[in-house]
Amino acid sequence: MKSSIATVSISGTLPEKLQAAAAAGFQGVEIFENDLTQFNGSAADIRAIAKDLNLEIIALQPFRDFEAMPEPFRSQNFYRARKKFELMHELGTRKLLICSNVSPHLINDKNRAAADLYELADIARQEGFDIGYEALAWGRYTADYGDAWDIVKQADHPNLGIILDSFHMFARGNTLDILRDEIPLDKITLVQVADAPALQMEVLHYSRHYRCFPGQGDLPVKEFVQCLRDKGYNDYLSHEIFNDEFRSSPAAEKAIDGIRSLIWLDEQTSKHADSDVDEGVTGVEFIEFALPENSDSNLLELLNAMGFSETHTHRSKNVTLMQQGDINLVLNREPSSQAHEHFETHGTSVCALAMKTHNLKRSFDRAKQYHCPSFMNQAGPGELNIPAIKAIGDSLIYLLDDQSKVRFYDVDFKPLTDQPDSGIGLKAIDHIGQTVAHTDFLSAAFFYKSLLEFDITPNQDLPDVYGLVVSRLAMSKNKKVRIPLNMTSTSHASARRFLDKTKGSGVQQIAFSCDDIFTAAAAIGSQFQLPIPDNYYLDLDARFALEPELLARMKQHNIMYDRNEQGEFFHCYTREANGVFFEILQREGDYQQYGEPNAHIRLAAQSRLYKETEQ
Ligand code: MG
Repeated sequence: MKSSIATVSISGTLPEKLQAAAAAGFQGVEIFENDLTQFNGSAADIRAIAKDLNLEIIALQPFRDFEAMPEPFRSQNFYRARKKFELMHELGTRKLLICSNVSPHLINDKNRAAADLYELADIARQEGFDIGYEALAWGRYTADYGDAWDIVKQADHPNLGIILDSFHMFARGNTLDILRDEIPLDKITLVQVADAPALQMEVLHYSRHYRCFPGQGDLPVKEFVQCLRDKGYNDYLSHEIFNDEFRSSPAAEKAIDGIRSLIWLDEQTSKHADSDVDEGVTGVEFIEFALPENSDSNLLELLNAMGFSETHTHRSKNVTLMQQGDINLVLNREPSSQAHEHFETHGTSVCALAMKTHNLKRSFDRAKQYHCPSFMNQAGPGELNIPAIKAIGDSLIYLLDDQSKVRFYDVDFKPLTDQPDSGIGLKAIDHIGQTVAHTDFLSAAFFYKSLLEFDITPNQDLPDVYGLVVSRLAMSKNKKVRIPLNMTSTSHASARRFLDKTKGSGVQQIAFSCDDIFTAAAAIGSQFQLPIPDNYYLDLDARFALEPELLARMKQHNIMYDRNEQGEFFHCYTREANGVFFEILQREGDYQQYGEPNAHIRLAAQSRLYKETEQ
């Protein structure tokens, strides 16, 4: 199918929007008329710009409150329509989108609506144009696409068809039955696709603020496109997204998200789609930190407190490796490297994640398919010679073959001869929390969902002392790689402090698993731990009636607790180093959660510590 985007979906002036759409690879655009009216130039100028960019202007939209009006509005509407047809000639587009009427003057008469649309379609025919009729979910008498179809069917004019918009259909709870069983392909003038999170609210507000690209929300847009595909539809799918965050983000970035969404829809609905792919990401091989060249940092103190020490050194670069259990942490202090650039902008921080994949070629093919820059065999001085793709913020994801018998450190690193056995029993990376700007939240989750084929959970609210942190989990198919994504719209919550400190999205939290959290916590020591208030343990006792001795030990070591039918969960946190903090956790039984009931305690404790130490 062909790709299009309505100019209302992205930010900027109309020429900026067209340039962003073309750069992302869209083949067509719908011109949202307000964008054109605001433009300080002619429709012919826009036609020329689009032509230069190789973009087809597939429609002008929207034309409102047309059908079934009494005089004098009816005559005025036909005059207005003729003016828009003149504009369409200048713009070089053949389709006009008509939204169902919301006017208080509207006459509730389908016959009149059909007759007016027939008359307009006949004028359109003489001009060489088509008109499409779309049911707005808040249309006064035509709100369901089935009702719009009844009117189009009754009018029965070859230059009149229906506009299908997935948002309006699903916001009204419409099924796909009428599309599947009744609407012929040649009566579909245009298909608009939009998704949205599952929310209950007044539908006009829902539409104007919460739409998002298909795959980013919860509506069954995939099933909608599958239905069209099964019917043989092979024309444009056009994004029509009204979203506050999209309009406050760079147009180029959102346009890339938009094209990724259409690629994903195509993939998900193609005959070859295989939803049980077992070939994606299977584990985290290492986490790479960017550090200053010649100085220690708070991060090193924290890592040392957790029993990490340098076990390997790079053969030629200022790069070292810390190993404990199955955990590999790479510390990159090499000048003139990607890591150093990352450090210059963000300070001491995680600059890359290395993930193991079951099919390396397929992973890179997917990155290319989804317009994601990759770095193959282009390692500059100081960079690990491992191919990578551009990931969240300024970070990279290295991809390694999980079938390889050679580990990354076998080639590039040599073990230090004098290795102290200083681990504290940490076993593996349990999860890696990334914090992103609220404008990048949908985009980040969709990056993992589309490129890396992770599953994404719905949003979860975590109350912070100074606002709300919203979280959702991205998880690999084999459940071994778990990346909670966090954001806040408020100005002082934990996620915002991190973004301010590190100047951009990145890894804020790393959780390590162990088998004996009491030993690990004792080894870390209270000076590096996040202190938990006594009140928490009083409440814990009230909730779970734990053994007094166990409760006392938890309190002594700032360990928090959760339990469900699947098992138990013990966890504690370190203090922060340049906004980054660590979690030590112990899972018992089949507990798969993250101690969410304790998140507000942790967030409050972090705020308190921040106030004490940094303000
Ligand atoms: Mg629409």
